Amino acid sequence: MEPASKQAHLDQIAAQVGACRRCALHQTRTQGVPGSGPASARIMAIGEAPGEREDREGQPFVGQAGRLLTQLLEEVGLSRDDIFITNVLKSRPPGNRDPLPEEVAACAGYLDEQMAVIQPQVILLLGRHALQRMLPDAPGISRCHGQVLGAGSRTYMPCYHPAAALYQSSLLPTLREDFRHLREHLDRAARPAQGSAAAAPSAPSGRAEQLDLF
Ligand code: SF4
Repeated sequence: MEPASKQAHLDQIAAQVGACRRCALHQTRTQGVPGSGPASARIMAIGEAPGEREDREGQPFVGQAGRLLTQLLEEVGLSRDDIFITNVLKSRPPGNRDPLPEEVAACAGYLDEQMAVIQPQVILLLGRHALQRMLPDAPGISRCHGQVLGAGSRTYMPCYHPAAALYQSSLLPTLREDFRHLREHLDRAARPAQGSAAAAPSAPSGRAEQLDLF
């Protein structure tokens, strides 16, 4: 798909999210938050759901957690502007409660379509809700964070949600290490292929082997 038609497709999804009434969250949200970033992004980041500020501004990850995400990316030489950022849910749950299964199911088509259009090299799963949505059979986030996981034709890397590191600062070094590993994975993938191993998902040295889930 050409970049222009990719962008047009993403714009179309955003318009659908803006008018969506598929679940009850449309009654309490200020506006839908479809996601932001270039259609040509190599990385897609998926969080849980918009918070209060995201709901107000219509943009994902604009609060404190968003600032930390931007910082973590910049520390490994990546720009937030090069990444497509979105959430499992496109509308804010009241009081920032956890997403309900029926809301996740109702919203699933938008995220699936965004991934199909963008076809990123790697999908960052920020927190347990994104992990559960994309890799329901994976071990918990505390066991699989920082690993590069292949599932079907897609490559994922789960990591703690930046908001978790704001509440529990001891998670920050782990998050930093996982973002370093993300960078290493991208650098490896960008090198000329040396046999099939060059393009395959990989685990950081000294860690458990990559887990192929499907
Ligand atoms: S959360 Fe998703 S399904 Fe529910 S109203 Fe918002 S866009 Fe529609």
